[in-house]
Amino acid sequence: MGKLANQVAVVTGASKGIGAGIAKALAAEGAAVVVNYASSKEGADRVVAEIAGKGGKAVAVQADLAKPADVTRLFAETKKAFGRLDILVNNAGIYEFAPLEAITEEHFHKHFNLNVLGVLLAAKEAVKLFGPEGGSIINIGSGVSRITPATTAVYTASKGALDAITGVLAKELGPRKIRVNSINPGMIETEGVRGAGISDSDFRKWVETQAPLGRIGQTDDISPTAVYLASSDSKYMTGETLLVAGGLR
Ligand code: NAP
Repeated sequence: MGKLANQVAVVTGASKGIGAGIAKALAAEGAAVVVNYASSKEGADRVVAEIAGKGGKAVAVQADLAKPADVTRLFAETKKAFGRLDILVNNAGIYEFAPLEAITEEHFHKHFNLNVLGVLLAAKEAVKLFGPEGGSIINIGSGVSRITPATTAVYTASKGALDAITGVLAKELGPRKIRVNSINPGMIETEGVRGAGISDSDFRKWVETQAPLGRIGQTDDISPTAVYLASSDSKYMTGETLLVAGGLR
């Protein structure tokens, strides 16, 4: 039996990238998984089919996490599909970089509506579904909140806010046996990173020269840490921010 047998997980932004990797890893440990996506139905259906093909349970649910009504619907559909919730992975996020002179209100709100408000609203709904045995909330932050790279002020601010939220909610929800931790990845090769042109950039070369492990990461460098934080292996951990970044800090 897997470490997460009989548990139910919601993974936001799981149609591709880090979220898809985490959804598959949680399912491989026996969790039933809600694979959330915003627009890539095909990608989400592929993740669900892969999980089902290995004997796991998953459903795809569309919801734009930057829209409060969609967040509420995501958790209503989770309850309808699986009747309970034990694990929330707040992974959906965007990263667009801009130097100070290019920062606009739109750029700011786009990042904060999803990377910060979306996380808070998802946590609020998840907590209503967790049972008396509590649950685990895993926020996907970023190594940028420590590295603070130039031209990333808004994105890095959103992930810095997420580090703070992890600490605050860990204290607030601990008495209800709800653990809240963050994984802060370094540069991970994903569809998003490739689409933004970052995977062939000077930033990648900088990471490869600066990271003690000498390479950027892959999604399977992150997913085992999510399984660990979701499972009772980490039962005495909350409020932690784990850098998973090849040693780059
Ligand atoms: P990605 O390849 O761009 O995938 C993003 C996922 O989020 C997709 O499934 C996408 O769904 C979903 N998504 C986007 N906007 C959404 C919305 N409004 N509502 C719901 N889902 C939405 O991204 P990634 O590189 O895997 O990054 C995932 C997370 O890791 C982000 O929070 C990012 O900040 C963080 N992170 C990434 C890296 C990295 O180097 N890759 C490093 C540190 C931290 P659709 O396809 O349907 O739009």
